[in-house]
Amino acid sequence: MTFYFARGKGIIFTFSEQFAHTAADRGTYGPAWMRIDLSRAESHNGSMYCDAHIHLVDLEEREHSFASTPLPFPWRAAVVTHAHAEFTRSEALRRLLPPTIAGFGIHPQNPDMRNAAFLSSLCAARGISFIGEAGFDFFGDSAITTREPDAARIQTEAFLFQVRLAASAGLPLVVHARKATDMLMGYGRELAAVPAVIFHCWPGRLEEARMFLKKGINAYFSFGTPILRDSRHAIESLRGIPCSRILSETDAPWQPPHGSPWSRREDIIAVVDKMAKVLEMSSSALLPVLEQNFVDAYLLHGMNRDSASCAGSETQEDSAHNAERV
Ligand SMILES: [Zn+2]
Repeated sequence: MTFYFARGKGIIFTFSEQFAHTAADRGTYGPAWMRIDLSRAESHNGSMYCDAHIHLVDLEEREHSFASTPLPFPWRAAVVTHAHAEFTRSEALRRLLPPTIAGFGIHPQNPDMRNAAFLSSLCAARGISFIGEAGFDFFGDSAITTREPDAARIQTEAFLFQVRLAASAGLPLVVHARKATDMLMGYGRELAAVPAVIFHCWPGRLEEARMFLKKGINAYFSFGTPILRDSRHAIESLRGIPCSRILSETDAPWQPPHGSPWSRREDIIAVVDKMAKVLEMSSSALLPVLEQNFVDAYLLHGMNRDSASCAGSETQEDSAHNAERV
């Protein structure tokens, strides 16, 4: 999860018109920020939207019946959980939804190693498809996220436990990092032993992304609603990272777009549209690329890359990376 506002405290937001313009046409009701232009999705000929990072139980607390409200576009997602009870509830929600994949992790904001045994049992029983989110958080908004030796030691213990478990179980690892890419960089050798590393809501610079790839890490970089507000680092990274390494996410409900109190599944449309605009390609062309990258990142093989190319935006480095991976 990525907190752009203080979690559990009052959230200050202002009305945005960006979601309001089709409400009347579609006969929808509710607050204006909820009226997302779904016609954008309908025009992409049924292409699959892939959300690389979502919290179903946290979303349900805000949208009680979301799981029984079908989305009017093909959708799949990677679902993260961080406690036993949350996992149980999340699995019940997943059964109501189109196919999703489940993950469990010890979050750096609550690096409670009492969850380690449950995580290990899920891996042993193949009850999850990936581990995460795991990582480092030194944002400084709580004692555990303050960059001090004790907090760093506790976060490191949880992180390394999960990195090693992902490597031994052969599972992808979803990484959360805030003000901590330098810490992660120090564990390049350990991360290179993990079959795939997904940096959710990639917070770093393009140069840092390149360094992770140069370390031989099978890294993927996921982009969420920060690109909607033109986050400079996110735009720079998205333009320069090989196209075969990018993913889309909502982190719902934790990445509220401007004017919304939380992010929703439907926000994936705006994220993909903005990514396409940044990459100077159409959303219709980008969607199959993101779908194939989702399959690759989460090791869900069995699909081909025939239609997945970033025509018009492929760089030399992109070609080299694609060639490397054949
Ligand atoms: Zn998250």
